[in-house]
Amino acid sequence: VTQAHLDRIAQVDDFVHAFLHVDAEGALAAAKAADEAAEPASALAGVPLAVKDVLTTIDMPTTVGSKTLEGWIPPYDATVTKRLRAAGLPILGKTNMDEFAMGSSTENSAYGPTHNPWDHARIPGGSGGGSAATLAAFEAPLAIGTDTGGSIRQPGAVTGTVGVKPTYGGVSRYGLVAFSSSLDQAGPCARTVLDAALLHEVIAGHDPMDSTSIDAPVPPVVAAAREGLNGDLKGVKVGVVREFSGEGYQPGVLRSFESAVDKLRELGAEVVEISCPNFVYALPAYYLIAPSECSSNLARFDAMRYGLRVSDDGEHSAEEVMSLTREAGFGPEVKRRVMLGTYALSSGYYDAYYGSAQKVRTLITRDFDAAFEQVDVLVSPTTPTTAFKIGERVDDPLAMYLSDICSIPANLAGNAAMSVPSGLSDEDGLPVGLQIMAPALADERLYRVGAAYE
Ligand code: GLN
Repeated sequence: VTQAHLDRIAQVDDFVHAFLHVDAEGALAAAKAADEAAEPASALAGVPLAVKDVLTTIDMPTTVGSKTLEGWIPPYDATVTKRLRAAGLPILGKTNMDEFAMGSSTENSAYGPTHNPWDHARIPGGSGGGSAATLAAFEAPLAIGTDTGGSIRQPGAVTGTVGVKPTYGGVSRYGLVAFSSSLDQAGPCARTVLDAALLHEVIAGHDPMDSTSIDAPVPPVVAAAREGLNGDLKGVKVGVVREFSGEGYQPGVLRSFESAVDKLRELGAEVVEISCPNFVYALPAYYLIAPSECSSNLARFDAMRYGLRVSDDGEHSAEEVMSLTREAGFGPEVKRRVMLGTYALSSGYYDAYYGSAQKVRTLITRDFDAAFEQVDVLVSPTTPTTAFKIGERVDDPLAMYLSDICSIPANLAGNAAMSVPSGLSDEDGLPVGLQIMAPALADERLYRVGAAYE
């Protein structure tokens, strides 16, 4: 199976460009070890997968899509990487992404864009476009992504694949190169909900190396996916988020969403409309919180400890080397966010920006709490549009940011959320995603509803 996927990668990845690094030798050795083991290490032993290049790997470079870390081989494995190896999953390679996971199209990668296998001229979503594209192009049966504002779910939606952002703290962030620490969350990407559930159980669970990791049993997501496969949603209450429709949504996406809601009803779910009035403030709050945290997290790329170093010629002071290296190593979107974040955190501005955004975050969490008193899950389109053309939004950051308008609330509140394929748009024939959101620590609800729906 691993060899077949390596062959497929050799055949199509020049065209798709989903991988930044392929480790054929390592993957085949792990596959052989899984084959020869007396007992399978897990239900997924021997099933190869692709890992987003934001998680550290001791035997492969970890670039985070940035020139800053070009060629850097980390001295340790991320907890997610360790758990994958322990469960016997051969790692095929590392996937392309927007630099430091900042973007919605993978065009911010310093190594060139990934192409959507459905239409080569279109984006595969971002920041985890590489992971989603490996699935859609059948280069890998499973992949790992990370989701700070939608980077697992939005690529899933636009490539017709499944993507899950687990509850914040459900999967360890140890070895996940930090963008916005209070939002970053690793999760499974797959072509079916049950596959995602199996992978979820491999990577989830408490980790003492991550102080925000939740010390609680892993939600029973595999059992829930199997239950969902019976196709019966009787007794499940589904809330349709009223705020996620109207202007900015493609009519084809809205029509697909309406038929998704009809289907949930046919499966026996009770569907009601729910208002979450503060969700409309999620995007602006996110674009204060995420850049603020990134400006602090990216301070470690100082040209001294690791990564790129330029002008280290004895002619320049240490400060000049730092500054020139950051100038050369970071792309425009990363610089934009570091500057925005530094500004928002400046002395005297805290209350106006970061402080206000944190208050909005609380209001969004309260909207979720109120909604989940009435319903088991909330649903919405995952993204307002299908995959757009490569180049279409590169000069318009606000248009790019709008891709995540439906996915960001779950990150701000720390909830669990999934995107499940919801057919093709009748407007352009491209994949559409249905987003399902559940309360924190109730990830299993996503899998029950998602498996019944798909
Ligand atoms: N597109 C969003 C951003 O650029 C989300 C990215 C992510 O989830 N990593 O910040």
